[in-house]
Amino acid sequence: MFFDLSFVDWDDSLLMAVLWSLVWGALFLKDKLVALVAALAVFSHFIADWPVHNNDLAIYPHSELHLGWGLWGRLGTVSWILEGFFALTLVAYSWRAQAKRGVSMLWPSVLRSRSRRRTWFTAYWSLSASSCQACY
Ligand SMILES: [Zn+2]
Repeated sequence: MFFDLSFVDWDDSLLMAVLWSLVWGALFLKDKLVALVAALAVFSHFIADWPVHNNDLAIYPHSELHLGWGLWGRLGTVSWILEGFFALTLVAYSWRAQAKRGVSMLWPSVLRSRSRRRTWFTAYWSLSASSCQACY
């Protein structure tokens, strides 16, 4: 399975990751440590994307140079299964940690799952399309 994100330069390029990180960190400038952690948390998205993306992470929007080690392409469907288990592990950890504090993670989890649903449907349709091609 090759999950091609043909143009993600405005949200996932290195330059935009730095800009999004600075913007998010600036919202917490009241406490410089919190601002730094917030900015690094946003930038961690780019670091997490690098191994899985199929050489489609631009250095800056419309750059010729792209990054990505291509685990999505190499592992195929297994990468989606691993990503699903990783996400479920994080959700379970979060639910447990927040429950100890008396905080429910129900609504944050519901809202988060709604935003990921589109990605999973896209993966499902691309899998369906590739399995149909195998039938011909
Ligand atoms: Zn990304």
